Amino acid sequence: MRLEFNGHTDGESMRLTKSLLASGALAIGTGSLSASASGAASAAPGAADFGRSNPFQAPSALPFQAPPFDKIKDADYQPAIEAGMARQLDEIQRIADNPSQPTFANTFVAMEKSGRLLQRALNAFNCVSQADTNPFLQSAKTALAPKLAAHDDAIHLNRKLFARIAALYERRESLNLDPESLRLVVVTHDEFVHAGAELDDAGQAKLKTLNEELSTLSDAFATKLLEATKDGAYLAADPAPLAGFGGGRLAAAAEAARSRKAAGYLVPLQNTTQQPDLASLSVRATRAAIFQNSWNRAERGDANDTRNIIARIAQIRAQRAELLGYPSHAAWTLEDQMAKTPAVAIEFMDALVPLATARARIQAADIQTVIDSQHGGFALEPWDWDFYAEQVRKSKYGLDQDEIKPYFELSAVLENGVFYAATELYGIHFKERKDLPVYHPDVRVFEVIDVDGRTLALFYCDYFKRDNKDGGAWMSNFVDQSTLLGTRPVIYNVANFSKPAAGEPALISFEDVITMFHEFGHALHGMFADTKYPSLSGTATARDFVEFPSQFNEHWASYPAIFEHYAKHYKTGAAMPAALVEKIRNGKNFNAGYDVTELVAAAELDMQWHTLPASAPLQNPDEFETQALARTHLDLHSVPPRYRSSYFNHIWGGGYSAGYYAYLWTQMLADDAYQWFDDNGGLTRANGDRLRRMILSRGNTEELGAMYTNWRGKAPTVDAMLKDRGLR
Ligand SMILES: [Zn+2]
Repeated sequence: MRLEFNGHTDGESMRLTKSLLASGALAIGTGSLSASASGAASAAPGAADFGRSNPFQAPSALPFQAPPFDKIKDADYQPAIEAGMARQLDEIQRIADNPSQPTFANTFVAMEKSGRLLQRALNAFNCVSQADTNPFLQSAKTALAPKLAAHDDAIHLNRKLFARIAALYERRESLNLDPESLRLVVVTHDEFVHAGAELDDAGQAKLKTLNEELSTLSDAFATKLLEATKDGAYLAADPAPLAGFGGGRLAAAAEAARSRKAAGYLVPLQNTTQQPDLASLSVRATRAAIFQNSWNRAERGDANDTRNIIARIAQIRAQRAELLGYPSHAAWTLEDQMAKTPAVAIEFMDALVPLATARARIQAADIQTVIDSQHGGFALEPWDWDFYAEQVRKSKYGLDQDEIKPYFELSAVLENGVFYAATELYGIHFKERKDLPVYHPDVRVFEVIDVDGRTLALFYCDYFKRDNKDGGAWMSNFVDQSTLLGTRPVIYNVANFSKPAAGEPALISFEDVITMFHEFGHALHGMFADTKYPSLSGTATARDFVEFPSQFNEHWASYPAIFEHYAKHYKTGAAMPAALVEKIRNGKNFNAGYDVTELVAAAELDMQWHTLPASAPLQNPDEFETQALARTHLDLHSVPPRYRSSYFNHIWGGGYSAGYYAYLWTQMLADDAYQWFDDNGGLTRANGDRLRRMILSRGNTEELGAMYTNWRGKAPTVDAMLKDRGLR
């Protein structure tokens, strides 16, 4: 049973993400409890507030048990989650105390059925507290974080429960289980051992203390970072510093200022180091100011400075790993991943460094040439990169973002591109549902109809940036698929595209198009899930596997038959001129040196923080970061890491500690998989059905390396990735 608090699959721009265990230690899982409802909750903390009117009391009566957002009030979440924890602990204790001999049914299946109230409340809460939050929800989140961590421990460290699990695990081969059930026994057992089930009492007590402090620190980090990022917005009194913005972008900046009751023009920060607007802003001082706001957002010595927190998180994680018998947090984390050890992941990354940095250095020289030819009189700085790269791109490939954006109108990209590709590959169709309640007016809901005409899933999408939304893009579930529980998937995608001014069309960049395909790749992994047990369902896989379906799906954005179907001028409906398409194709890997270098720099930085031994002293984050980048030959002045340590939410606030390499690792899988399609006829229903049957529907029901190799016919190699990413 996977316990998951903030679980979501986060794919930010073309490279991103799944935070499977986004809040680190906190998680609640897919445990579900067949509502032994009644008495259990009475003694629970918070139970007094959990009245009959609470909309989480019973499963939603809406189609697919979709969350009744029209009835849910902010004040309903915390009592429901607390009552859900109490109820699940009661259910778990009954399993542990069962006087009957342990059986697969009275132990593993019963655990899978536990925690349903908690799961449905938490799934809805995770969504709104990240995509549409407010101070009330943030304070509920802060209050719940340590309680959920303690809840997780109370289950994983329950000795009577683990004795049953261990006894069944020992004789698993003689239980006559089907392969999925056998996999559940192994995964659950390993998860308990991983969480400290085999520690003695003193060890478990220490582990609980460390986990509680970690969850509080991770939550504090995320809260400070949200504020720091908001405060880091750039405000201009008049349009002059924003020269280079088109009329629409300027109007959006004015609206952003108004929404914060400020005068002038506001440019909010995105969560990466680089800020997309730097590509168009022609005033160098403005670019420098925005970049510095980004780079120093969480290092200003104010209440939102995160440096002390991250140093302490790294130290506690190392201590926890030592307690559990591992040399480092990374060694502990990677044990159940596809890569298995930090050494394998590091070797994979180290091999990319010389190829990526060599490309980046060539690009930097090209950019410096442009600067010099314009008599700039300065050396390239990180805030100049995108602005001049855009000019190099224009001169080399003639590509102008303003020229291509009119062909990428958001709804057309969604329905004629993202959905269309899924129809062509998998035979599924989409029908908008305006009758289902949503948590914000920007959210749209679609019913997903399977090949046989039956409804497969619900899909929600929430694409526009808001100040009260976490940065990046991600996918998660409102309802997890499970044939045991009789539940079908309810999935959502969230992103942060610039919202157009009222009455204007939402024209997005090609990078945003890729993000939509990416997140929808995760959505497909969730929607096609066809497993019995909820904890093995859909995207509940290893981090270094879960980004594979999403990055694979990105490939279809550029596939000619798909591209031609959605890339049409929003006013005239005209197809994108062939010359422009050719330019996009040629320019695809134009910035590969930068893109891969910033990504591998962040990944190596993450791995160095998390291979620290428990004996290492508390680190100075700035010094550590400088040395870490130098050690891995990634200290390129003009190519900073995609995230600086102090705002690297994936690894401190999210679930990607010692796991950021997974983006690159899964690029390897995605490109290798696409190569298979390329070799076997490309976009066909037969190819799509085969992938659905052998991978996308299978969740974590089989060892993932074997699942991949069975489908591919051989182990993955890095060859296609180096070619696709322009490194070879
Ligand atoms: Zn992703």
